[in-house]
Formats: sequence, structure tokens, C-alpha cells
Amino acid sequence: MVEALTLVRLGLANSDGVPPLDLLDRLAAEAARLLGASCRIEPEPLDITFSYDELRRQAWSTAVLARLAAQPHTPGSAIVGVTGLDLFVPVFTFVFGEAQVAGPAAIISTCRLRDEFYGLPSNPALLVERLMKELLHELGHTQGLRHCGDWRCVMSSAHTVERIDVRQAAFCADCVRFLHNRARP
Ligand SMILES: [Zn+2]
Ligand SMILES: [Zn+2]
Repeated sequence: MVEALTLVRLGLANSDGVPPLDLLDRLAAEAARLLGASCRIEPEPLDITFSYDELRRQAWSTAVLARLAAQPHTPGSAIVGVTGLDLFVPVFTFVFGEAQVAGPAAIISTCRLRDEFYGLPSNPALLVERLMKELLHELGHTQGLRHCGDWRCVMSSAHTVERIDVRQAAFCADCVRFLHNRARP
């Protein structure tokens, strides 16, 4: 659905929230395999201090999307920011991620995908799995997909990790049809 994908690590000026490179390596490998797309990781993290709300201790995801879309990227490719910072949009307590609908940019947070957030032992494999599902979900939005009523579809709406875990790392038949029709107008 996307031919090329650029992953950008996002954090504060003091490096808070910048996710470790080895986590991005694992995500890029999984994305390249699942999407069959060329995938690269920006070597330098992007400072998103401008989006950080000190009182909420969260970054405003929508503000970051515009900045990401302005980053150099080839037409038809997607640019996805990954951060360890917690994200919000003003009407919600938090979001796992956000994307420009039918635009190039998306952002995802690892903060609430980590089992440690819920007081559980670290589970790196589960973190990569959840991150990949969030990546697919937000990429789906960049391709114009809306939320899907099928709980197993990666485009179903999820506000808890339990719902993310119910999803498969795949689009349902209806969503696949939408993506195909979009690819060949
Ligand atoms: Zn969504
Ligand atoms: Zn679907």
C-alpha cells in the first residue's frame, strides 16, 4: 500500500522520549516484511519539544504531524514518527497514535504499548507486535481508510492495549478492497 516508508525517532531536546534504535530496527524489519515496502530510519532524531505540554507531560500529536509532513520525503512515501513520549489530542486523555487522513505523515507512541506502563514485566516481542499493528493502523489512515467495525481488522478503533492485542496485524477483506481500489483508480 505504501512503496516506501521513512521512520523518524522523536523526542525532546534533552533526548527524553527518543526510542532506542534497536527497537526501530526491529520495527523496520517487520514493516519491510509485512508491507514489502522499502523502509529506512532517519539517522537523526527530530526534536518535538515545541509540541510538548509541560502540565500534561504529553506531546500534542497533531502539532507533530505537520512538522513530519514538511520533512523531506519522496512523493508517494509515508513518513512515520515514533516516540516514547505519551501523546494527546485536546479532546482525548491520550492517543496511541495519529495520522493525516490521505496524507503522508503519521505518529505513534510506544509509551502505552509497553507492558511496564501497566506494572507488568517488560515484553519486548509483544511491544514490537503492538507497534507494528499501530504502524499498519496509522498507515491505513494515510491511505484514506477510516475505522473498521471488524474487531480483528487492524483498522478497528482501539483505546486499550487489550483491543490492540485482539487485532491481527492485517487488514480485513473490506479494507484490502478499499486499498486496492485506491491504488488503481
Ligand atoms: Zn485510527
Ligand atoms: Zn477492516
